[in-house]
Amino acid sequence: MVKPRQSSAKTMASALVCSRCEAVTELHDNKAYEAVQNTLHQTGHGFVESEIEIKGTCGSCQASCRVQV
Ligand SMILES: [Zn+2]
Repeated sequence: MVKPRQSSAKTMASALVCSRCEAVTELHDNKAYEAVQNTLHQTGHGFVESEIEIKGTCGSCQASCRVQV
């Protein structure tokens, strides 16, 4: 059965994780949240909470070494 739509919009936690020094930077990007929510809404999914982990190289690591892992 279809449950009532959850209207309580929670913050989507996005984390940037450096693959070199493993530094974690948390992001709370409402635009990214809205983009994901709109996509899920179009496909009929209910969306409450999600986490996104983005791996890459942080600023300090890029400054010390331009080579990507
Ligand atoms: Zn780093």
